[in-house]
Amino acid sequence: MVVTITLNPSLDLNIYVDKLRKNQNNRTKNMKYDIGGKATHVSLVLSALGIENIATGIMGGNNGEVLIQMMENRGVKCDFVFQENSETRISYIIVQQEEEGTYMLTERGFVVDEEIIEELKRKIRSIVNKDDMVVISGGVPDGISIDIYSQILSLVEEIGAKLIIDTSRECLAEAIKHKPYLIKPNEAELKELLKLECTDEGEYVKELKQLNEQGIEIVALSLGDKGSIISTEKSTLRIIPPNIVQVNDTGCGDVFLGGAVSMLYKGSELKEAFRFATAISTSKAEKGGTSEFSLEETREFMKEVVVYDV
Ligand code: ATP
Ligand code: MG
Repeated sequence: MVVTITLNPSLDLNIYVDKLRKNQNNRTKNMKYDIGGKATHVSLVLSALGIENIATGIMGGNNGEVLIQMMENRGVKCDFVFQENSETRISYIIVQQEEEGTYMLTERGFVVDEEIIEELKRKIRSIVNKDDMVVISGGVPDGISIDIYSQILSLVEEIGAKLIIDTSRECLAEAIKHKPYLIKPNEAELKELLKLECTDEGEYVKELKQLNEQGIEIVALSLGDKGSIISTEKSTLRIIPPNIVQVNDTGCGDVFLGGAVSMLYKGSELKEAFRFATAISTSKAEKGGTSEFSLEETREFMKEVVVYDV
């Protein structure tokens, strides 16, 4: 089974406008609630592909209930810890229809109580088994220090499940110490982690290999519309997605990871796993919603994705 853990989930509110203009009344054309990232989106991909998974993490209030209902409507089994008198945060995503690019405004979220952290740890102990994959995506909410984050990762390590991490800054730096099976930084996250100035792909490859040498089996560096570089000790793949008109790239990384985890869990080879991940995240980039993707379009895009050994 795959267990996905989102420590600071959000309810997304996609707000569609023609173009966001400064110092003017910007009229919204349409607004739509959606499932916010991060590991939650991985669960959506897994469930769409019929792969057994449980989504857990910390939720609060009505927003938490709405979010879980939306996930269950899409076939995800949810088992979240609820904190009383607290509301899951909202992320506002402004999608411009006359211009490429989105704006994202995220709330901080509530401060997690100590007993909720203990409850989450108990839950992880009870649902995660040795042969599982555990995806932990996103940052930590207030109340969860890096030390506690590290304890959660240790818990998964002790059980013996495969750790998959998609996060940034100090959480990513901490996660590396636990030698996860897979990490998926984007360009900014990798540069921040390694204090890199360069944007040269050859240089990136060297840095990814060093991470492999530190014990991380798969390092997947995502490069937005430029695709990705996938590195293991033995191989390096460069993957180029099909050329499309991007509508909303928020959540592409999550859907990419969901695609990769689905295929790796089923035992696919690296090339096929990341060809699929690229195709499904391309279909996501074409959609307005943050958690939308199409398996039918994914099948078409699979033929157009270019994969080569570096
Ligand atoms: P997020 O954190 O919002 O989920 P991210 O920054 O982690 O996103 P990206 O690098 O933007 O992730 O995107 C992940 C993958 O999605 C890319 O490697 C690529 O395969 C695909 N992708 C993203 N944008 C596009 C696009 N415009 N066209 C085609 N594929 C895209
Ligand atoms: Mg990301």
